[in-house]
Amino acid sequence: MYDVIIIGSGPAGLTAGIYTARANLKTLCIAGNIWGGQLMQTTLVENYPGFPEGIQGPDLMLNMRKQAEKMGVEIIDQDVTRVDFSKLPHEVYVSDVSYESHATIIATGAEFKWLGFPNEQKLIGRGVSACATCDAAFFKDKKVVVVGGGDSAMEEALYLTKFASEVIVIHRRDVFRASHIMQERVRAHPKIKIMFNTVVTDVLGENKVEGIVTTTGNIVCDGLFVAIGHTPATKIFENQIKLDAKGYALREQEARGIFIAGDVHDHKYRQAITAAGYGCEAALDAERYLSENSQHGS
Ligand code: NAP
Repeated sequence: MYDVIIIGSGPAGLTAGIYTARANLKTLCIAGNIWGGQLMQTTLVENYPGFPEGIQGPDLMLNMRKQAEKMGVEIIDQDVTRVDFSKLPHEVYVSDVSYESHATIIATGAEFKWLGFPNEQKLIGRGVSACATCDAAFFKDKKVVVVGGGDSAMEEALYLTKFASEVIVIHRRDVFRASHIMQERVRAHPKIKIMFNTVVTDVLGENKVEGIVTTTGNIVCDGLFVAIGHTPATKIFENQIKLDAKGYALREQEARGIFIAGDVHDHKYRQAITAAGYGCEAALDAERYLSENSQHGS
């Protein structure tokens, strides 16, 4: 029996753990088979306060994990497979093993969105990717396409220029939604070409990407980087918590001892620092909920 179970181990989950464990609440963090969240796939993070020279994403997450463990958070690196929040204590399952908690903090984040063609899925890891920082090095002196018009697409394109000979950014509208500074960097880069008002409709290639089909013609290329946003990781919570129309978790579920933190509900800011802030909020709310319901330490 735990006072608090935290599901997820990105900045939201680990910050929540630092706070709950420090408040002497018995805390279990079920971190996922792949722990750490999206920052594990990032390189230099320049906008997380406290690191004037920036910090590598995985290093930042490792520091947060060590800090949570030092405070006393138990961490297991497995995926939650099922939850039952219909009664108290909550039940959180990892395969057949059930863990019980008086309060649960959901911090499962969000996953990459894909364009949705069969060949796209088939060629993931063979030229199709959603993570330039993971895969860019495979495209030395190659021609690659990035799809999307947000900050992620700009970031992916700029990162790819370190390796690729040519980067084409394809966006479905005639204006990017990315921040001004990122757009300017992309527009100014000699290796990057921009195609507006173009929709990618298929990926070509049997065993590796050989090109793409678009509404403005076919393009021969070696890689396709999809940077079109994210889907909240809420599948296991369907019918257990309130979700909005896009599947993001709604936050006002505290009366049932359920607290929500980070990108799993935040489709607006999606920053490491905001996720950490939400993790802090969720932990403080859970602490207050437990003390008001006299369950702390029971
Ligand atoms: P986003 O801002 O939601 O942008 C997604 C882009 O993909 C949009 O341009 C969208 O087009 C396009 N798109 C969506 N579905 C599509 C589809 N099916 N086919 C083709 N294009 C599609 O997502 P994001 O870029 O991942 O950014 C998410 C948040 O994280 C933002 O708040 C962003 O500022 C932040 N972020 C910040 C940084 C940074 O500060 N360094 C880096 C990365 C992300 P439309 O524009 O037409 O909708």
